Amino acid sequence: MSHIENPMEIFKLLNGSNCKECGEKTCLAFAVAVFKEKRPIQACPHLEKEVIDRYGGAIDKPNTVDEYKAEAIEELKQKVSSIDLSEAAQRLGARFADNKLTLKIFGKEFSVDTEGNLSSEVHINAYMVVPALNYILNGSGTSPRGDWITFRELNGGPSRYAHFEQRCEKPLKRLADTYTDLFKDMLEIFDGKQIDSQIDSDVSIILHPLPLFPIMVCYWKPEDGLESSLHIYFDATSDDNLDIESNYTLNEGVVLMFEKIALRHGA
Ligand code: SF4
Repeated sequence: MSHIENPMEIFKLLNGSNCKECGEKTCLAFAVAVFKEKRPIQACPHLEKEVIDRYGGAIDKPNTVDEYKAEAIEELKQKVSSIDLSEAAQRLGARFADNKLTLKIFGKEFSVDTEGNLSSEVHINAYMVVPALNYILNGSGTSPRGDWITFRELNGGPSRYAHFEQRCEKPLKRLADTYTDLFKDMLEIFDGKQIDSQIDSDVSIILHPLPLFPIMVCYWKPEDGLESSLHIYFDATSDDNLDIESNYTLNEGVVLMFEKIALRHGA
């Protein structure tokens, strides 16, 4: 039995051509059908035998993301309950009222109470909770400078880059290649700002997963037989406001959010 976390893991095995030979309109739709065990993966005629051998049987589905992160969240909540939230709000340029610190995540307001509980009018993604609580606990409040650096240049970045590339940049690139509304969603749903590229990319969008922690997503379209590429950049002050593990978790969460949206639209 193969262990599969979500439909995107199946989607990544497909060639992304949307050729419809499986009878589904898109590769995304096919991936969802396989994940729901409505279709066998063998129905795509373009897969290597070793992929079919590995994923052709029953699917072992995971615990939810929220369960997965629950332990880390509990620990952080304990820590938040022992700090002065009004001081943290001042340090981070956040608001403090009614015993709650309020800050913006992707432009939407989230509040943290003195017990470390997060609340918002929008859905709270568990991948955002750990970085948000770490940000409140340890963020220095340094303002971004607008100088962009790579993940590798962050403290602890070199040893984590292979994972970051595999779990964050590559899946987002693949989405950008196949889901044409990705950048529109970044701008409209996630309060992104398109900027003139400083590094010659075709698309450059700045997102604010946390107020003092912006990221810049840059995408280069395929050209003259060259593959497309996508990289995520960080402000040079990023290490002052978020540790590398939280940064990684947050970007993983960003990718999962966009994957879910793409699946909803593509399925
Ligand atoms: S899943 Fe396979 S058969 Fe179906 S559209 Fe994608 S590449 Fe074509």
